[in-house]
Amino acid sequence: MIQSDRRFACPGLYRIVPSQDGGICRIKLPFGRLNAAQMRALAKLAAAHGLPEIEVTNRANVQIRGVHDGADDALIAGLVDAGLAPKSSGADDVRNVMVSPFIGLDPNAIFDVSDLARRVLARLENETHYHVLSPKFSIQIDGGEEIAMLQHPNDIWLSAMADGRFAFGFAGVPGERTAGAVASGDAEAALFTLLDHFTAKIGQLNAKGDKITRMRHLLVDETPADLAARLTCRVTPADAWQRAAAMPQGHIGARRQADGRFILGAVPLLGRLGQEMMLGLADLAHRFSGSEIRLTPWQSVMLPSMTEDALEEAVAALEELDFITRPDRTLAATLTCAGSAGCKSGLADTKADARHLANEIDGWGQPVFGIHLTGCAKSCAAPRPAPYTLLGLRPGHYDVFAQSDAPVGDTAKTGLGELLGHDVTIEQAARLLMQREKA
Ligand code: SF4
Repeated sequence: MIQSDRRFACPGLYRIVPSQDGGICRIKLPFGRLNAAQMRALAKLAAAHGLPEIEVTNRANVQIRGVHDGADDALIAGLVDAGLAPKSSGADDVRNVMVSPFIGLDPNAIFDVSDLARRVLARLENETHYHVLSPKFSIQIDGGEEIAMLQHPNDIWLSAMADGRFAFGFAGVPGERTAGAVASGDAEAALFTLLDHFTAKIGQLNAKGDKITRMRHLLVDETPADLAARLTCRVTPADAWQRAAAMPQGHIGARRQADGRFILGAVPLLGRLGQEMMLGLADLAHRFSGSEIRLTPWQSVMLPSMTEDALEEAVAALEELDFITRPDRTLAATLTCAGSAGCKSGLADTKADARHLANEIDGWGQPVFGIHLTGCAKSCAAPRPAPYTLLGLRPGHYDVFAQSDAPVGDTAKTGLGELLGHDVTIEQAARLLMQREKA
């Protein structure tokens, strides 16, 4: 009998939670990685127990939706057999160690942080006193790679500096709420000292009366400097430090690795892979990337360590499977949440509307990147405002926002930026975005 886990409402591998279209099972993959056999197993399990597709999440995990009533135990057992489960349900929730999909391969990274990330993840999984962390609590370990997610905030971040130190900070992305820097050899101990302090506070109320579950709650009572002062190692200032910008759309197409081989990135439309895509991707990984598949926080996939000779065939095969391998279509960089088709809070069918919107825009010959369609104001798919946000109001109708440092009037209330159009159709939204791009 599988022991399911009901401590939190967030989906997990051992905690399949009900949704509009059936259960959701979220499989947290260590560093977003899986192999070809595991991708095939996911295809089989999804077809047998839920909707016959998987979704890549914005934390480089996968989820199976539409899990049938009574299928939980069989699905969980299948995932365990496929080597996709941690040792225990508690360990499942602490797998949020976020790294670049280019980790260990990027010729321009400052450090290879692979070993550090592996040690951190192993300790979180094996030392059960860390299992009290919220399933949303996340740690970013950034080696300064060119392909890097620098929009999603994490509870604690560590980021490599060119002078050999690690800057660190809280409740943000590298460079936000920076507390200082430590020598690279002190980074792991510093991180766990901070985690020990944080876990001791979990469940207490902060000065605002909020229960402490995330680092932002602790920051009500303690500043980043207060937290840094708890470290026993030397902490040096990093106030002037800024993380270098990441490569725009770096996760799409081929990039040369440090060893001369290539990593190839491809985007499944709106983060979803059907049966043919999963099995085709597994075959390509088996043939060309030593069976390794890396998922990304852009809800896309990457095949590492490919020879130059293999690229042309792999790109053609991925395009044939309906992956996007060039950033030349609007859907290459469009995000959506489940929308009304998969979530009871959804006010509009974001997935269908995203395709409609992209068709309209691409019909004019110029893609628009960075659009986020959200079914309600909760904005599950994008933790920070996207360049453009369509906020669902009712079927086929949205408010349209453009990211702005200076939100105007009432639109400031949403935090999504400047309101370009209220209660507009998809065709009207497409025109508004095109006009904005040309302005
Ligand atoms: S943003 Fe709203 S509609 Fe979309 S998945 Fe989240 S709760 Fe559901």
